[in-house]
Amino acid sequence: MRDAFGRQIDYLRISVTDRCNFRCHYCMPQNHKFLPRDALLEYREITDIASRFMAHGIKKIRLTGGEPLLRREIESLITALGNFVHSGQLDELTLTTNGSRLANFAPVLAEAGVRRINVSLDSLDPSRFRAITRGGELQAVMDGIAAAANAGMSIRINMVALRGQNEADLLPVAEFCADNGHDLAIIETMPLGRGVAGRQDCYIPLEEFTIPLRETQDFRAIAHRSAGPARYWRLEPLGLRLGLITPMSENFCDDCNRLRMTTDGKIFMCLGSNMHVDFKQAIREGGVSAVDSLIEKALRLKPLRHDFETQMAKPGYRLDRHMNATGG
Ligand code: SAM
Ligand code: SF4
Repeated sequence: MRDAFGRQIDYLRISVTDRCNFRCHYCMPQNHKFLPRDALLEYREITDIASRFMAHGIKKIRLTGGEPLLRREIESLITALGNFVHSGQLDELTLTTNGSRLANFAPVLAEAGVRRINVSLDSLDPSRFRAITRGGELQAVMDGIAAAANAGMSIRINMVALRGQNEADLLPVAEFCADNGHDLAIIETMPLGRGVAGRQDCYIPLEEFTIPLRETQDFRAIAHRSAGPARYWRLEPLGLRLGLITPMSENFCDDCNRLRMTTDGKIFMCLGSNMHVDFKQAIREGGVSAVDSLIEKALRLKPLRHDFETQMAKPGYRLDRHMNATGG
C-alpha cells in the first residue's frame, strides 16, 4: 500500500478499547466519557478487518488503547492475531500497555508470538507515578515489566516528557532500563483532546528534557528503527538504547508508515488529522468485501504531515480526539 505521497504503509495500530484504569493527566481528563460498550468493534470484526489490511500489505500490528489488557477476554484477540504471526502472514504483533495487568497476560502474549512490547512508565517514584496517572500503582507495573521480561519479550519503556513533573525521573528511568536491558523511548506531549488542563505548560522539547543525559553520556546516532517514529541513539557509558520521539520539535512525517483504527472501527491515517473512514459501518453493512473498497479511499486521506506545533500554539485549539481513542 502506498499513499498519495508514495509512502509505503505497512503498520496498523488498533485501539481495542478507549477505557483505562489510569487517567494520565496529559492523556485524558479525570471525568473522561468513554464510548458505550456496544459502539466497540467485536473481536471477529477486528480480525476480519485486520486480515483484509494484511492482504493489502500490512505487516505489523500493534494493539493499544486505552488500556488494551483491560478489555474483557482480550486473550482471545491476542491469540487470533497471533495465529497470523505463526502462519507468516504478519511479521510482527506488538502491544502498548500501561503495564498494570501485564503480569497476568505475559504468558499469553509470549505464546501468541509477541516478541516485544512497549510499557509506559513516566516515573519510578511511587507518589509521582500516582500523581501523573491519577491513582496508578507503580508496583503492579514493575511486576508486569518483570513478568514480560521473564516470558522472553523485549521491552521498551515509554516515558512522556513533562515539564515541572518528571525531569528528575529521567536518570533513574534511564538507569533502570540500562540495568535491565530495556530500551527507553522519550516522547513529547501532543495536543490531542480537549479538557486536558495545563498540557501546554507541561510540554518540553526533548532537546531540553534530555540535558541531564547529554551532560553525562556520549550520544551516538544508530540506524536501529522499531517501525514507529523513534530515532535511536546509543548512550555510553550507560549502555542504553534511547529512542527520541519528537512530534513537536522535529517532524518525522516524511517516512510515516502507519495508520490507526479506533475502538469503534474508524481508520485515521494520521494522529494529527480528523479525516477518517468508517470501517465498522462498512463491515456491518457490506461484509468483509466492503473493507477492500474502502482501503484505497483511506490511503488517499493520509496528509503529508501533522501540524501539532501550530495546534499547540493556538490557545484553546485542540484536536477533538484523545490519545486513548486512536491509541499510541
Ligand atoms: N494505555 C497504554 C499506555 O499507556 O501505554 C496504551 C495507550 S496510551 C494512549 C499510548 C502511549 O501514548 C503511552 O505511551 C502514553 O504515554 C502516550 N500518550 C498519551 N497521551 C499522549 C499525549 N497527549 N502526547 C504524547 N503521548 C501521549
Ligand atoms: Fe491510560 Fe495510557 Fe492514557 Fe495513561 S496514557 S490514561 S495509561 S490510555
